Amino acid sequence: MRGCFQFLVGACAFAAFAAGASVDESLARAEDVKRTSMTEFNRELSLIMADESRLTDRQRDHLAYLLAWRDSFSGDFVSAINEFERLIADAEDPVIRFRSRVTMLNALTVARRYVEAYEQLNELIGDVEHVSDPAARDQALGVIAQLLNHSAQYQQSLQYSQRLIREGAQPWARCGAQMLILEARVRAGELNDVDPEYSQWAERCSNQGEEVFSGLMRTQLARLHLSNGRPEAALSLLATRAESMAATRYPYLLIDIAAIKARAFLMQGKFEAAIDEAQRAIDAASPELSTESRSLAWRVRYEAEKSLGRTDAALFAHEQLLSAEMSYADDVGRRSLAYQMARFEANAKSLEIESLNRQNEVLVLQQQVSTKNAQTAWLAVALLTSLLAFGLHWSIRAMRVRRHFQLLSQRDSLTKVSNRRHFVEQVTKKLEEAKRRGTFASLILIDLDFFKLINDRYGHAEGDDVLQRAAAELCAHVAEGELIGRIGGEEFAILLPGVSKSDAAKRAELCRLSVRKVPYGTNDAQRPLTASFGIASTDQSGYELRELMIKADAALYMAKDAGRDRVSVYHEEQQQSLLPV
Ligand code: GH3
Ligand code: MG
Ligand code: MG
Repeated sequence: MRGCFQFLVGACAFAAFAAGASVDESLARAEDVKRTSMTEFNRELSLIMADESRLTDRQRDHLAYLLAWRDSFSGDFVSAINEFERLIADAEDPVIRFRSRVTMLNALTVARRYVEAYEQLNELIGDVEHVSDPAARDQALGVIAQLLNHSAQYQQSLQYSQRLIREGAQPWARCGAQMLILEARVRAGELNDVDPEYSQWAERCSNQGEEVFSGLMRTQLARLHLSNGRPEAALSLLATRAESMAATRYPYLLIDIAAIKARAFLMQGKFEAAIDEAQRAIDAASPELSTESRSLAWRVRYEAEKSLGRTDAALFAHEQLLSAEMSYADDVGRRSLAYQMARFEANAKSLEIESLNRQNEVLVLQQQVSTKNAQTAWLAVALLTSLLAFGLHWSIRAMRVRRHFQLLSQRDSLTKVSNRRHFVEQVTKKLEEAKRRGTFASLILIDLDFFKLINDRYGHAEGDDVLQRAAAELCAHVAEGELIGRIGGEEFAILLPGVSKSDAAKRAELCRLSVRKVPYGTNDAQRPLTASFGIASTDQSGYELRELMIKADAALYMAKDAGRDRVSVYHEEQQQSLLPV
């Protein structure tokens, strides 16, 4: 077609027309193969791009949509989201605008922009009822089901997947829906072992070329094999269609497969093979993708290195495991919080509208009553009263829910004390206040002793439990107007406004004795938990939190150095002696 300049003008016009038609065919074909064959998909896109100057505006937008889809599929969310935003604002075709919203939603969750994602999910749940384009509608039902799954709304998710089965028009719809149903049932704890129905679905969807969906089904089933102690079965399941699954180049699927294989090898005692596979998963999963599989891979590496007696490598893997697990847990929490917030805001809006409507009704009634019959004025009064009660009830509820969300975002989810960010904000305010009033304030920094050993010896769950109990003991010594926060893994801080450093030392001593009341370990070999305390006060450091922290930290360091399980107060002179002379 590009050589058409050599022919007659009329032939060129015809060729351009033909090009228009074939572009639509290519676009349709690219849509068909986008999940099933990346190679063919890329080929169709290059064909279309070669003709770019001749594309109509609609075709150009459709192409842009597919390119953004590809970015999103392969993990480049930033470009994808930007392009989707542009299309949502500019594309002429409402179907492209709608599909951009749907795919962008998916990208937003993977990019961990949950608040935006769940706000849009709410809108999408409403809009999906009015979409007539069957492909766009299927896509939206699938994305809704998936996002609900990821925010732990399993029953709702199942309803949308079932709709996708009943109403779906696209060939992929059944496979996508079965995959989502399997995921929801496993996550909800409804399905504890492999159900042959889903093995058949995996097979059927593979035959249909839907390798991403069947691959994701296989990984779910393989996990079930593992949790029932059958590493061989898991491995043989993942060996089926291994090449076609790899050919999808879908990062999530590949990370999942590698992590599950690693776990299976570990269970079989094949430590080196386990480490190799775990490394494959880790390499494929960037740290910002805090997926469950990333944690699994680090756990496998840790356990395998430990079994091989390679302490340093095990320690390193353990640290990575901890941070992967923390960010995964944090992620799950943030996702469901974002979902709840978005749902709450939507409810608030509809209740406000309802309330306004009622107000109107009452006003109309009131007019009728006053003009027609004064005797029925009681009716208006009754209605007004009920409206008032409704309004009051609503605003109290709204206040409570808002407060609940606020607390969730300020607290550390494990120990329920303030998280670092909130603690720092509050302390900064208290210090400003103290400066204005000319009173002093003291800061106690607390670091639990040998905490790593507790984790190593008794497991991370016991470590978490000890952390919770230690925080509870510390809280018992914090009075109204004083602040406590978790400022690091096993580090806490307490701010005491209006308390001198010698009184702060007395308080810290009480805390130290209380922490010793937290036992850990097995029943026959219980040990007391200990912690070290460092204190600094504004009379030495001024009212800058940073300075106060540095000095309290220096005192804490002294307490650790002097043997731990003790309180140390910052003194200029001692500090001098720490400096090299
Ligand atoms: P030291 O007496 O010198 O403070 O020894 P330590 O073992 O406490 O040393 P360090 O402060 O370096 O180690 C803190 C450890 O706390 C590292 C990490 O494994 C663990 N940790 C941090 N956050 C958590 C958590 O949320 N849960 C659990 N279980 N462990 C955590
Ligand atoms: Mg520490
Ligand atoms: Mg410590």
